[in-house]
Amino acid sequence: MAEQGKPRFAFFDGQIVPIEQAKISVMTHALHYGTAVFGGLRAYWNADEQELFIFRPLDHFERFLQSASMLRMHLPFTPAEMTTMLRDLLRAEGFHENCYIRPLAYKSTEMIGVRLHDVDDAFTMFAMPFGQYVEREEGLHVCFSAWRRVDDNAIPARGKIAGSYANSSQAKSDAILSGYDEAVVLTQDGHISEGSAANVLIVRRGQIITPSSSSDVLEGITLRSVLALAREELGIPVVERLIDRTELYVADEAFMCGTGMQIAAVTRVEHRPIGTGQMGEITQALRRLFFDVVNGRHPAYRHWLTPVYASTLIEDAKR
Ligand code: PMP
Repeated sequence: MAEQGKPRFAFFDGQIVPIEQAKISVMTHALHYGTAVFGGLRAYWNADEQELFIFRPLDHFERFLQSASMLRMHLPFTPAEMTTMLRDLLRAEGFHENCYIRPLAYKSTEMIGVRLHDVDDAFTMFAMPFGQYVEREEGLHVCFSAWRRVDDNAIPARGKIAGSYANSSQAKSDAILSGYDEAVVLTQDGHISEGSAANVLIVRRGQIITPSSSSDVLEGITLRSVLALAREELGIPVVERLIDRTELYVADEAFMCGTGMQIAAVTRVEHRPIGTGQMGEITQALRRLFFDVVNGRHPAYRHWLTPVYASTLIEDAKR
């Protein structure tokens, strides 16, 4: 389970309020029909610089707004404005530690009725201290879920749509309650899609392979970052294609990545070791690079970070 603290404030109804005041009615549309979309970002505390760095907020908010538009929501903010709102919120919290940020847009009208049009939208966001999301980042034991991933023509996985997390929750709980750490979920046609809340990658013959965005995956921002680091820093070729289930059995290495998960090695699948059964070299190298980057220790990728306490937003302009 994640080590997590509590937020003191939320952005709610257009302003920052104490978290106790950020409340909604039981009649709220989103609560009944899953008509909400959310995001998940991390900010990393750099003690040497006494600075809190938000990881790729513009990219996260851009995806968030895309998810919202899939549910016919019209939020009156740009990614840059949302980044400013987030900085204000984190400054109010005054965090000097790693944290997780949850923006949420939801159909807010108090009514009964299955539809997306003529229903009001609302936006809220809160942040809390946060450690690891999975305990065994260095060696997950996974299973293939008996649940299939939601299809693009049912609830698009490309959007981070609240209702589809009933599917992810089924997969995760069944995996954990059967003694595994995480589930790998297959598409309707039986290819590897993703984990319950993370993208999946394998290494075979020196290549990194991950399902393309047509395999009903969330287009992960951590994934995009990891693929860039693999290509640019390690010179490792990256292939996005269909992955058969049995390729995980014969992979040299496997890992998952996501904002919560960060980078976690997958070392066993259904009681079979993957590769040596220990975290592989490429996974290790990428993990090291990733943590350097998110903590602001890699100058070439400082443009992915937005400082919370510095007085300007110069980094944002560059992305
Ligand atoms: N897939 C799913 C289903 C997720 O919930 C997440 C976590 N947001 C990811 C992948 C990873 O995406 P990201 O790297 O943008 O957090």
